Amino acid sequence: MTTAPLFPTPTDEGRPPFTPADVDALIDELVAIVGPRSVSTLDRSLDRASRDGSYMSPILSALETGAPDVVCYPRTVEAVPQIVRAAVRHGVPITTRGKGTGNYGQVVPRFGGVVMDMTSLSTIHEVTDHAITADAGARMIALEQAAWAHGSQLWMYPSTVQSTLGGFLAGGSAGTGTIVHGRNHMGFVEAVDVVFATEDAEIIHLEGAEAQPFVHTYGVAGIIVRARIRVEPLQDWKCLYASFDDHHSAFTTAMEISTISPLPRLLSADRAEVVAALPKDPAFVTGRANLRGIIDADSLEATEDAIRAAGGRIEDVRDGLVQSIKLSTLSYNHPTWWLQKAHPGKYFHFECQGNALVEHLDEVEGVYDGGMLHLEVGYEMMFGMLNGIYSSPEQMAAGVPKLRELGVGIHSPHQWYVDLDADRVQALAHKTDPHGLLNPGRWM
Ligand SMILES: Cc1cc2nc3c(=O)[nH]c(=O)nc-3n(C[C@H](O)[C@H](O)[C@H](O)COP(=O)(O)OP(=O)(O)OC[C@H]3O[C@@H](n4cnc5c(N)ncnc54)[C@H](O)[C@@H]3O)c2cc1C
Repeated sequence: MTTAPLFPTPTDEGRPPFTPADVDALIDELVAIVGPRSVSTLDRSLDRASRDGSYMSPILSALETGAPDVVCYPRTVEAVPQIVRAAVRHGVPITTRGKGTGNYGQVVPRFGGVVMDMTSLSTIHEVTDHAITADAGARMIALEQAAWAHGSQLWMYPSTVQSTLGGFLAGGSAGTGTIVHGRNHMGFVEAVDVVFATEDAEIIHLEGAEAQPFVHTYGVAGIIVRARIRVEPLQDWKCLYASFDDHHSAFTTAMEISTISPLPRLLSADRAEVVAALPKDPAFVTGRANLRGIIDADSLEATEDAIRAAGGRIEDVRDGLVQSIKLSTLSYNHPTWWLQKAHPGKYFHFECQGNALVEHLDEVEGVYDGGMLHLEVGYEMMFGMLNGIYSSPEQMAAGVPKLRELGVGIHSPHQWYVDLDADRVQALAHKTDPHGLLNPGRWM
């Protein structure tokens, strides 16, 4: 967890000194590279490319965080280095965009320039017993579907299943599968094809340890055009929904069943007020807390026994890929997203971790007015989103020392800077992006 400021103030540091004439000259080159239909300066294209999931933060959504001058849509990976060479020649910043679900504003072009939308580059090239190779715009859901068709499963994928491979690697971190495999910078990637922002940019293939440094770098150190990610043999998964009288027993039980082997792929729990905001489902019972998980068939009986012993009720057990993906879309940031949708403008959240979330649940929730924790079982510890009623940045900040005293680790979803090993990433970016043109404005 980062110790960076919770709500940094935007500055102009890192703004490349380009002019409107540079942009015009670049647009001419982009049209020559990808064709006029794949270059847009229409307001609706620029507007769309200046938004991401950061509307979930009352701080970020109140900021004028940036807008592009032009958006381009490469249709082949070979076009990417050509676009980058042109942008470097004209000194215009390049922000690479996947599906735009990043929730820290990390895909919003702070200083304008060109946004390169990768969503057309969605080819899945190869599925083997241990890996999938795909272009950066392939959706995570498509990769999971391809894996299942092969008798495999992804090591992990986020609750935003429509997000792209490149975006999840560069902007995301965890999801279904994290309980077993940790976060996406922990060996999930076997290889990347990456483009650096130099005058002679080409597609460079990096394997193993050389590929890892490009994960969770917000595209500031290179543009991922293709990646090979890890899969493993498909397990017989059961989607289990249980309910409890109160969320204390649901959360304690989540912690208890998280170590039953074979380990679950996902375990999420919510109190009744959050359940009420989730999409209607017969397994969500009004007034009851909910515990749901993707459980290995060999662990199902022990898991159900533990739930019943804790006073819980099994509401349903479902099979198959569609159910498994559906359950994933109710995990990580999504319960907060649904809560905010049900009560617009009311709630903020912090990302939290540590077993203290469960061990000191009342004190943790008591830190904020209307405090409600969404619980995820993370990698070797509890993880969650602490939602509270929003009144001001000061009120949000005031709770943080109290949470830390309780032993809770905090990550602020209200800042847009590179937040994982920023010094290392900056040193890498100095070499791979010597003119500071890749998604600039990401250093504290
Ligand atoms: C409701 C909600 C739920 C979420 N749940 C999860 C979750 O479960 N787990 C999780 O990890 N995250 C989650 N997120 C955050 C987000 O969904 C992930 O970061 C997501 O995987 C990003 O993918 P994307 O295609 O939308 O990327 P974008 O948002 O388009 O981009 C994200 C970052 O990656 C960079 N980038 C994109 N493509 C490339 C590329 N090809 N090469 C280099 N850089 C690139 C962008 O410049 C940006 O900095 C959630 C967000 C929301 C709003």
